[in-house]
Amino acid sequence: MRFDHDTLAQRVRFASASAAQNLVAEIKELGAGRVMVIAGEAERELSHRVAAQLPVVHWHHEVAMHVPVEVAERAREQAAAHRVDALVCIGGGSTTGLAKAVALTTGLPIVAVPTTYAGSEATNVWGLTEHARKTTGTDPRVLPRAIVYDATLMLTLPVDLSVASGLNALAHCVDSMWAPRADPIDRALAGEGIRALRIGLPLVAAEPGGLDGREHALYGAYLSAVVFASAGSGLHHKVCHVLGGMFDLPHAQTHAVVLPHVLAFNAPAAPDAERRIAAALDADSATGGLARLRTELDAPRALRDHGMPESGIVPAAEAILAVVPPGNPAPVTLDNITGLLHAAWEGAEPR
Ligand code: NAD
Repeated sequence: MRFDHDTLAQRVRFASASAAQNLVAEIKELGAGRVMVIAGEAERELSHRVAAQLPVVHWHHEVAMHVPVEVAERAREQAAAHRVDALVCIGGGSTTGLAKAVALTTGLPIVAVPTTYAGSEATNVWGLTEHARKTTGTDPRVLPRAIVYDATLMLTLPVDLSVASGLNALAHCVDSMWAPRADPIDRALAGEGIRALRIGLPLVAAEPGGLDGREHALYGAYLSAVVFASAGSGLHHKVCHVLGGMFDLPHAQTHAVVLPHVLAFNAPAAPDAERRIAAALDADSATGGLARLRTELDAPRALRDHGMPESGIVPAAEAILAVVPPGNPAPVTLDNITGLLHAAWEGAEPR
């Protein structure tokens, strides 16, 4: 066994109904006295409640999906104008992404309070969109210094968004089994992430107001982001990145639809990953286990339901072919990736 593994340094505080006091402790730890809170309009009231005891000098509520550069620029200007010394972001991946965009150019420390299962808080990956093109990169400055997880903040996340977001997290785990930098530590954590999501998400769907399911799902989502940051983007993430960029599809739903197709595509060529995923899903096979979970969750099925045109399948297949990660278990051809996209587009059974 030979591998190199980077562990990213950040503190994780995981405690339900404790976000406000854990935030105070983290800001104190940083020695910060001029905080900028970033939270979307929809999370305005929540953010004022959770961050009420912080030394806030600016509340920033302009957040947009995929972090448009002009939105990032305005947030950076506000951070400079208010001589901010720490950022607190409260929201989903779009909100965390905006805080990362500010940290990228200012080096300001971030404390992240996630309210979806997207997992951006545990990665050093940033993303910015300009002229409908999304650029991503990695930089140590954008990794939040600390994460404050509080599952009670998820209780308002509607079931369909919870399911899509949770399957986005599951996709991080599954793809980490064969992504370019996947190592034994990633595979072990990914298995535990899948197990936690498999337990948590059905509980969330059955009882959205119950804390047990929310906590399991949030714990699984954290693990999923840790392994994604370490292992990098596998075929699944490359497919979703191309589709999201080309057709402006919703992030979590795209992941939720595409996952079973990439799993069915790669699993026969990746027997070790297949066994691990099956075991974590408590099923005889990885594909069978995922199909059962998706049925239980009434998961999103077809890309055409989320805005992808049929005419986009071939151009997308060509674009994906150019970015297939090295070492993907199953060989990718224009023919088979077109077939995969067609099945995902129409919501057919994964092949
Ligand atoms: P999002 O942040 O856009 O949020 C989706 C919707 O959920 C929003 O309308 C928001 O107001 C609402 N919402 C959030 N929390 C809620 C709550 N608790 N209750 C009710 N409503 C709530 O979507 P997302 O899926 O969290 O994030 C997607 C973005 O994150 C994409 O841009 C993606 O590229 C990025 N992302 C980045 C990384 C990374 O490592 N950099 C990882 C994962 C995702």
